[in-house]
Amino acid sequence: TIDPNNMFKTGFLEEVFKIRPMKPVFTRFPPEPNGFLHIGHAKAIAVNFGFARYHGGQCYLRYDDTNPEAEEQVYFDAILEMVEWLGFKPYKITYSSDNFQKLYDLAEKLIGLEKAYVCQCSDTEIKLQRGGEKGTAGPRYRCRHAEKTVEENLTEFRGMRDGKYKPQEAFLRMKQELIITCSITDGNPQMWDLAAYRVLDKPHYRTGDTWKIYPTYDFTHCLCDSFEGITHSLCTTEFVQSRVSYEWLNKTLEVYEPMQREYGRLSITGTLLSKRKIAKLVTEKIVRGWNDPRLYTLIGIKRRGVPPGAILEFVNELGVTTANSVIEIKRFDQAIRKYLERTVPRLMLILDPIPVVIDDADELDGKTLTIPFSPKDPKMGSHDITFTKTVYIDRSDFREEADPSFFRLAPGKTVGLLQVPHPIKAVSFTKDDATGKVTEIRAVFDKETKKPKAYIQWVPTEAVGSRKTEVRIYNSLFKSDNPGDAPGGFLNDVNPDSEVIYPDAMVESGFDEVKRRAPWPEAAGESELGKGGPESVRFQAMRIAYFAMDSDSTDDRIVLNRIVALKEDSGK
Ligand code: ATP
Ligand code: MG
Ligand code: MG
Repeated sequence: TIDPNNMFKTGFLEEVFKIRPMKPVFTRFPPEPNGFLHIGHAKAIAVNFGFARYHGGQCYLRYDDTNPEAEEQVYFDAILEMVEWLGFKPYKITYSSDNFQKLYDLAEKLIGLEKAYVCQCSDTEIKLQRGGEKGTAGPRYRCRHAEKTVEENLTEFRGMRDGKYKPQEAFLRMKQELIITCSITDGNPQMWDLAAYRVLDKPHYRTGDTWKIYPTYDFTHCLCDSFEGITHSLCTTEFVQSRVSYEWLNKTLEVYEPMQREYGRLSITGTLLSKRKIAKLVTEKIVRGWNDPRLYTLIGIKRRGVPPGAILEFVNELGVTTANSVIEIKRFDQAIRKYLERTVPRLMLILDPIPVVIDDADELDGKTLTIPFSPKDPKMGSHDITFTKTVYIDRSDFREEADPSFFRLAPGKTVGLLQVPHPIKAVSFTKDDATGKVTEIRAVFDKETKKPKAYIQWVPTEAVGSRKTEVRIYNSLFKSDNPGDAPGGFLNDVNPDSEVIYPDAMVESGFDEVKRRAPWPEAAGESELGKGGPESVRFQAMRIAYFAMDSDSTDDRIVLNRIVALKEDSGK
């Protein structure tokens, strides 16, 4: 495994620190609380919180809540929960909206500096001033509103604040000079007199009806960074062009100047992260909610049982550069598998049980077998399991007719039972006439065969602690790699087998200990902060897959989610 600090010691983030080798480092993670975080945000969290931690500094969690139309309390809570789950503690939790008065005062200051004006142009007029439609660029120019005096602008801006204008009737615009001075070909639209404030007659969930005007991202973000003394403001590359307006505003207002740098976004193919599309999957009841284990929302990934440590390891291994990383689901799965392989205990689980009565098992019936939780890591310890004369094996490990290419159980054939001293040989079986399904197998120990060709997992009866469980096997939610572009829309691309349920599965009694000890210290990477819920009860079901307990579980009913298959493409 590579150094967990690799992403900070090399490449882009090493460079960022070299440009400004300033301590203490202060960073911020600034989500807009208008939705649930997804896998891409995990990178932003790892970058911002991790960079500060690596340099002995601190990171703020700042809710960038300047758009009253989209924000809701549930998102605030879920965002903090995910940051903590990933193992980070915000230095302070702040809200852009806490600064509304301070921002307003700075807007008046900007007007006083003759660097902002109240504009009443329509969208069409603004487009023309900015050189017209892309590709048909005409000359850029500034509108007559820019000619007003400071007093006129102040009066009108206060009028905006006091509700004298309807939405769209007026907005405060920064006077950034470059709209007229830079050449038609090389201009940066971020400097073409951006909006600073807009009229929005909507109550804000925190400030109520206090404000009828709200600051824009371009006005708010750099100033909030400045207020908090952010040393390194790390954002994604769609903000490269914004860097100049970011620097312009702090410099013009003569406030503390943080340094903005931009890294590449992380995205995953084969799934959808768009809020609007996930909302559709939720309302159409295609998934079990925003935290469905098939989604790549962080609450979904968490529910599926993916350990937070695996996500951080994945992000660290990808590294941070200025390029966007577009990663296939299977690469993420591979990273999870690699992490689980060395960190979780093993148990035996049967998805579709058939009872096998071992006729000559009397001497072993009720005997205790001690089974290690890991074949490789003795620190994980072992657990006891009681052998019973009737054991359950998986339907797929039995064939009604022997076949030379099938090495598991069939009439007259021998197979090993994991951890049991002798293999068994099937003698006969019974079938249900109505369903045609095998209902019971009778077998005997085969003491002649020392080395059977195959071993299978088994569980003893419920009388000695085996538990019935519902197992949910998750496959890709979509059939194609690009569900967003699927013919007929993404709903047409939904994989009908994305969730396969085994209602009558059985897990051995060792599950109780795995549950009691969860999260396994060797394992999860769950921090003190983000202490695991049911999903931190994780194990490898031998020969099947990795599983975690679902939040639908109750005291008498265990529900398990497949985190990931044992190998790529298996279990489809
Ligand atoms: P989305 O629209 O997908 O929710 P966003 O850009 O609106 O994303 P915010 O909610 O504002 O995101 O996100 C907070 C921070 O997370 C921002 O700094 C943003 O750059 C970062 N971020 C968002 N998506 C990704 C991603 N896919 N990869 C890396 N960082 C991301
Ligand atoms: Mg967002
Ligand atoms: Mg956003």
